[in-house]
Amino acid sequence: MNRQEFIRHSSFLFMASQFHIPTISETNWAGNLTYSAKKIVRPTSIEELRKEVLAAKQPKALGSKHSFNTIANTTDTLISTSKLNKLLSIDRQKMWVWVEAGIKYGTLGLLLDQAGFALHNLASLPHISVAGACATATHGSGDKNGNLSSAVRGLEILKADGTLERWEQGNPDFNGVVVNLGALGIVTKMAFAIQPKFELSQFVFENLSMNQLKDHFDEVYQEGYSVSMFTHWENKNINQLWIKKRSDAKNIHPVNRYFGATAATTHLHPIKINSPINCTDQMGVAGPWYERLPHFKMGFTPSNGAELQSEYFVPRKYAFQAIMAIEAIHSIFLPYLFVSEIRSIAADELWLSPAYQQDMIAIHFTWKPDSKNVMNVLPLIEAALDPFEVKPHWGKLFTMSPQKLQSRYPKFKDFQALAKRLDPKGQWRNDFLNRYL
Ligand SMILES: Cc1cc2nc3c(=O)[nH]c(=O)nc-3n(C[C@H](O)[C@H](O)[C@H](O)COP(=O)(O)OP(=O)(O)OC[C@H]3O[C@@H](n4cnc5c(N)ncnc54)[C@H](O)[C@@H]3O)c2cc1C
Repeated sequence: MNRQEFIRHSSFLFMASQFHIPTISETNWAGNLTYSAKKIVRPTSIEELRKEVLAAKQPKALGSKHSFNTIANTTDTLISTSKLNKLLSIDRQKMWVWVEAGIKYGTLGLLLDQAGFALHNLASLPHISVAGACATATHGSGDKNGNLSSAVRGLEILKADGTLERWEQGNPDFNGVVVNLGALGIVTKMAFAIQPKFELSQFVFENLSMNQLKDHFDEVYQEGYSVSMFTHWENKNINQLWIKKRSDAKNIHPVNRYFGATAATTHLHPIKINSPINCTDQMGVAGPWYERLPHFKMGFTPSNGAELQSEYFVPRKYAFQAIMAIEAIHSIFLPYLFVSEIRSIAADELWLSPAYQQDMIAIHFTWKPDSKNVMNVLPLIEAALDPFEVKPHWGKLFTMSPQKLQSRYPKFKDFQALAKRLDPKGQWRNDFLNRYL
């Protein structure tokens, strides 16, 4: 399937339920969704933003368009935060940074580092907006690292009636408003916890057998500040192990072999045949946190990408069993897969975070741009992971029923009540939220 056919086919798939002819040609990053909006606006101030919200019947906040499903879609007005992108202030007493909602993690990382500070973690790609990422509980990896929204300390939301409401950690409902699925209003600004800046070195190992993983799972994930495994699921093998170590860690010394895996002798892309030119530096070369925690460089800015993604979270206690359940059915989905990544996420207290009160392992799938076949294999993957209380990533492709999804979140009803209070007329609802909320 060529790129144009891919976009046409995927758009049809996602739009089919909406019986709406899009009037703008804006697509998401992957190109598998053409938004159904009548118009897209890009306010540059809170006043402009309020005007647009009050003028729209069903507004919807749009971040950097990196979600793969219809969570950010609307048939009315898309309100992009791309021009609300400033660092507002650094509170050195509280160790918080206040930013506008549309700033991208890569931009924030550079500014914070220049001021001597760092965030605790980042996702694989630095081009994602902070509000969009936190709305869907976007995460990186690390046994002691919560997802990106776990660093939120304050936020302000513009509601559909044009009023602003502000929360700080400790306020009632704070743990409900952070991972908000865009269902409560438009986040205008956010505060994140910061810490002194630090450096990391990235070490890549090749070919860790799943047998070794079985016996050393915790050791592997505790080896670095952030650890990712990449696999094609063939031959019970983890193709690449990426270990990001803090430069001040005791175990920073490079080793040639690690539980039978061998140290890479050159920089690698997670899909080995691809050029690593866009990947962050490896081979143990120390660098600033914001240039090592993501896998891909900020300077490389793909406006779109011919791939799809799904990701599933299971409690850490089931990690190896869940990996084996996927390994057992890999031949079914292998023809459509580019690569899988396995990461760890520490527990948090955020109601709609997949890591709510449980340490999690995330099993990610980067798919070839073949929507039809990918959507066909997802129910099989979800069935294989069902015994392990699986939850899907809010911003990626999944097929799980709303009933099952809701049953996996102990605070789901509280979130529904919160959404009703903040958005009594359902103005931020779209097809995705109508289905899952
Ligand atoms: C190449 C690529 C790499 C990725 N890597 C990772 C990864 O490493 N880890 C991971 O967990 N995920 C990853 N993702 C998924 C991505 O982080 C999420 O889909 C995230 O939601 C995208 O943020 P966005 O700003 O693009 O939001 P959008 O896709 O634009 O919107 C997502 C949701 O956020 C809401 N939203 C956006 N801005 C606001 C706002 N100001 N106020 C209220 N709601 C708002 C939207 O309404 C919508 O509901 C990746 C995606 C891509 C394409």
